Amino acid sequence: MKSFEIATFFRKNSSFWPLKSLQSVSKKQVGSIGFLLLLTLFYVNSPITKVWNDSLEETTIAMDGYGKQLGSNLNSTANDTVVRNREREKLLRNIEEKLVAYLYQIPDYSYFPALETYLEYAPMILEQIPSTVPLEKGDYWLSSEYGLRKHPISQKKRKHFGIDLAATSDKYVYASASGTVLSIAHSQKGYGTHIIIKHRFGFETLYGHLNKVLVSEGQTVAQHELIATVGNSGSSTGFHLHYEVVKNGIKIDPMYSLNLKRRIYKNLFRK
Ligand SMILES: [Zn+2]
Repeated sequence: MKSFEIATFFRKNSSFWPLKSLQSVSKKQVGSIGFLLLLTLFYVNSPITKVWNDSLEETTIAMDGYGKQLGSNLNSTANDTVVRNREREKLLRNIEEKLVAYLYQIPDYSYFPALETYLEYAPMILEQIPSTVPLEKGDYWLSSEYGLRKHPISQKKRKHFGIDLAATSDKYVYASASGTVLSIAHSQKGYGTHIIIKHRFGFETLYGHLNKVLVSEGQTVAQHELIATVGNSGSSTGFHLHYEVVKNGIKIDPMYSLNLKRRIYKNLFRK
């Protein structure tokens, strides 16, 4: 009987309950809502989300400044190591706070000089960025650069969106950064047999005119991992690797990247 009464009470009063709850909003609850609103406003204006609002130029100038300060901190011979270490920690925090967003934001390699001092301090990040030659030293020579050129087959002036590395048949091709194999395609025209690898920070690399493919779609690869062999497939007039770097959907000049990792490590060991 009692449970029946309770059920009837709730059924009778259920329609009033949203109104009641509105009436019962206390000053304390208004306070909590206000606090949550303030917290949201603070988050929107916090340094972490602010990076996305900063222009590329502003962030580049800031990174350049931090990089120079870090360089003089690392090269400083001052005796006060406590102050130096504290200053260095602060600089590294500032760089790391902006770094990931910055690497996603930059459109090409021309923004890397601002990061070189930091990269010498933390070179491991270069494993995720196309920063090496995809062939072995001594196996290739640069036969065509990025930019306008007379097409070797059509003889028409057209932009070359990658670089050509001439090599003899079946020389090994390596991934220029760690990533995931996005696609493998075989064609009689264009790139011929080719692989596209997706990397972090909006980078992709393309390896064209291949002979053998040694990876499969969806496979994760490490930097320097063997992925294919040089061929002459597609629109090609001789054995070579056509290599492209794509950043945020746009094909960019890969020249600076070829020597990037090597140069950073060389500077590192010279010190
Ligand atoms: Zn090419």
